[in-house]
Amino acid sequence: MSARSYLELQNSKHRLSLLLFLSMNAASALFTLMVPFQVTPAFTLPLIGIPLFCLAALGYALRSPQKYIRKLNLFATILGLLWAAHIYVKHQYSPNDNHSFLLISLFSIFFISAISLTDNVMAFCLNAVPSALTILWLDDMQNTLRILFTILLPIVAFSLHHLMLKRSEIFTQNLVARLYHERDKFSDLSMLDPLTGLYNRRGLENKLNQLLAPTAGHHFVLLLDVDHFKAYNDRYGHTMGDQALLQVATAIRDTVRSRDIVVRYGGEEFLVLLINVSAEYAASLAENVRQCVQELRIPHHRDPLEITKVTLSAGIAMLEELNVDAAICAADSALYRAKSHGRNNIQQACSPHAASS
Ligand code: GH3
Ligand code: MG
Ligand code: MG
Repeated sequence: MSARSYLELQNSKHRLSLLLFLSMNAASALFTLMVPFQVTPAFTLPLIGIPLFCLAALGYALRSPQKYIRKLNLFATILGLLWAAHIYVKHQYSPNDNHSFLLISLFSIFFISAISLTDNVMAFCLNAVPSALTILWLDDMQNTLRILFTILLPIVAFSLHHLMLKRSEIFTQNLVARLYHERDKFSDLSMLDPLTGLYNRRGLENKLNQLLAPTAGHHFVLLLDVDHFKAYNDRYGHTMGDQALLQVATAIRDTVRSRDIVVRYGGEEFLVLLINVSAEYAASLAENVRQCVQELRIPHHRDPLEITKVTLSAGIAMLEELNVDAAICAADSALYRAKSHGRNNIQQACSPHAASS
């Protein structure tokens, strides 16, 4: 799961919480309207405002599906104030000793908040506190302890729950970020050849997708193969063969430009994608690479005084219509010709646009 989809998951959780909260408030207000606690007055203006506000808030939240948490806090505050106003207005008509209305109102508000705002201690407080304070004020100290207990118990429980939730959320977030980072790291590593540090074929594909489409100008594929490398291995050993490949790779990388893509295409085969270059310049870069490798002096690892040497043959083809496979195929045929022309030389692909030597 990506970090982004984790955030999306969080957002959809808050969205669900918001929808539940608005629906429960609307349902509770409609129920109170239909089955009033006491008949005079049957309803109050704030009570009528609650389902209307919920409907408008629902429409708004669905139309702008972001930052649900902020909307939830705002809606919780407004609905908390509307419930508090309803309780205040209704209480004006209650007989003086009727405190059960206040307690029932408090329980019902806390019940709705507790169910729909479990993950959100801030919205819970914003919603419940206005009614709780109003009830405490209207109650004339008749049920102060009971009311305080009803208010404080869920707040303490919610705070603890919230703390635990935050900790596990932070842990999950860190874990997701680390997994994301590791995935990128391994994905990068899987595109590099471990011996030479050059791109491998997978890296080439990746680079091609990123680079070629927006890049203007002509591009050339240069395919290079170390000559008689089997004989080199047989003579000096596989470890020396690896050393030679590493030096050849470094020589190629250092000779071409930084924008060119250098790939270890196979065992002792390299591919260079020369980006945005003229045919003449591509040919001269290829020649520079050939010379540079020819001039390499690779000391024997067991006897540094013994110098070993390698050469390269190469084929070069122009990349036409971003058809890399066709260009590689053409460069491969040219490389084959270079081998049969005695090796240590560069041949152009048979194309009207091929590089001139
Ligand atoms: P040619 O001039 O026709 O290309 O001859 P060649 O001997 O270079 O070609 P061939 O395909 O017969 O042999 C390639 C050799 O490259 C054989 C293989 O052992 C060696 N090779 C391929 N990958 C590696 C590697 O990673 N390390 C070492 N040391 N040798 C490798
Ligand atoms: Mg080969
Ligand atoms: Mg070879």
